[in-house]
Amino acid sequence: MSRIVVLGGGMIGLATAMLLGRQGHDVTVFEKDATPRPASPDAAWEDWDRRGVVQFRQPHFLQPAGRWLLEEHLPEVAQALAAAGCLPFDLLAQMPRSITNRDKRAGDDRFVTLTGRRTTLEFAVATAAERMVQVERGVTVTRLVTGRSLRDGVPHVTGVCTSAGEEVSADLVVDATGRKSNLVDQLVAIGARPPLESTEESAFFYYTRFFRGSNPPQFRAGFLANFHSFSLLTLPGDSGTWSVTVFFFSGDAALKALRDPARWTKLISACPAHAHWLEGEPISDVLPMGGVTDRYRRLMVDGMPVATGVLAVGDALVCTNPVGGRGISIGLMHAVGTAEVVGEYLDDPVELARAHDRMTQARVTPWYTYTVGFDRAHTAQIRAATEGRPTPLPTGPGAALGVAMLHDATLFRAAMEIMGLLALPHEVYARPGLIDRAMKLADVHAPTVPPGPSRTELLRMLAA
Ligand SMILES: Cc1cc2nc3c(=O)[nH]c(=O)nc-3n(C[C@H](O)[C@H](O)[C@H](O)COP(=O)(O)OP(=O)(O)OC[C@H]3O[C@@H](n4cnc5c(N)ncnc54)[C@H](O)[C@@H]3O)c2cc1C
Repeated sequence: MSRIVVLGGGMIGLATAMLLGRQGHDVTVFEKDATPRPASPDAAWEDWDRRGVVQFRQPHFLQPAGRWLLEEHLPEVAQALAAAGCLPFDLLAQMPRSITNRDKRAGDDRFVTLTGRRTTLEFAVATAAERMVQVERGVTVTRLVTGRSLRDGVPHVTGVCTSAGEEVSADLVVDATGRKSNLVDQLVAIGARPPLESTEESAFFYYTRFFRGSNPPQFRAGFLANFHSFSLLTLPGDSGTWSVTVFFFSGDAALKALRDPARWTKLISACPAHAHWLEGEPISDVLPMGGVTDRYRRLMVDGMPVATGVLAVGDALVCTNPVGGRGISIGLMHAVGTAEVVGEYLDDPVELARAHDRMTQARVTPWYTYTVGFDRAHTAQIRAATEGRPTPLPTGPGAALGVAMLHDATLFRAAMEIMGLLALPHEVYARPGLIDRAMKLADVHAPTVPPGPSRTELLRMLAA
């Protein structure tokens, strides 16, 4: 049995720990936030102090890919999600009325997820984890401890030091400390070459409000509706809750007025396909969020790991702007892949580092690249609208599918496979005839903009 220390008890740290624990290793999770897991999902929403996760009370949605990974690899968590009141939600519920063939098809179950507020999702994951591995809350890991190197110039990590000054030895350290992970500094501090890192500041600013009601709203537009200079994200949650988010270009100073609940409400009320999402009891203020970064790290430089005995998983290695609601599902893919390579190579730390890098490149990098590309195009559009310039029209197969999906049941499902992370865009586009069909429909249908105020009307409304 090997001893493995996981740094960070967020959703992906806990999932990784459970997967490794299942292999028979002695796994301990160190989580810096001290507050114990509350007794119920509602107590988690009200009181759980999780300041280590800045997005803890921001909108979250678990995509179908994440749900199915849990069903397959961590059924205890899938059961805990259901027991915590998470909502079975079918992505096909967003199918627009313009599609007339609405018959069920074989395989449609794959679009059904189990989702909830972030506080509930994490409550469920923590409930399962605390039964399976040791989770020590209130322990901050401050630095990595090293032993004899296995390769010249490559430090070998043999444990961690905690803020209490305790040294804990481990055969493997897994960093899951999220988007604020300071792993690069910690590696440099032990003499490692700096990992590769690229970052991109997401140009969006978000204002979200949560609601609860006895009749959760039905979809009259998709989750994500792009207007001219703003977008609306409407997400179903657990226990009769839901969230409504307005997001826009962070340089759009006029729209910062939406922080005021009265103005925020006025905007949603002025959007006919979305106004009914206000028909509930507000259970939060209008919550702001901005400054979210896309960040990509690689711990392998010139074919050699920068260090051995340490891996990173989830947001600590790769994190994306949240608009696509992908982080947890990508993190779960990464956690499953991490457990697979640890299962195979734990006894050979150099090969483990290489295999982990290969697995990340194969399973996580394509989703990162796709998400960043999508964000760049969306940012360019929303920014142009804000600055009064003509909006650049998206081109290529993704743009054609984006229009055609509203008119064809097969293409709608194809787009939902991408949205739900069930298939990568290039896999979907490679299906025989799919792109031809999307292009033909995109030629005869204009892109639709949901009904709502023009930019001029919006600015007038916010100034009043
Ligand atoms: C606004 C917003 C909305 C989002 N919406 C969605 C969504 O709808 N769907 C989706 O799938 N994803 C969404 N995401 C992404 C999702 O939140 C992350 O991908 C996910 O939380 C990553 O989990 P993690 O465990 O890797 O990191 P985190 O959840 O950040 O957990 C890291 C943990 O490490 C702990 N920690 C930090 N430093 C130390 C230390 N030194 N020692 C010990 N512990 C430490 C922290 O306290 C924290 O508990 C969103 C993100 C944002 C910012």
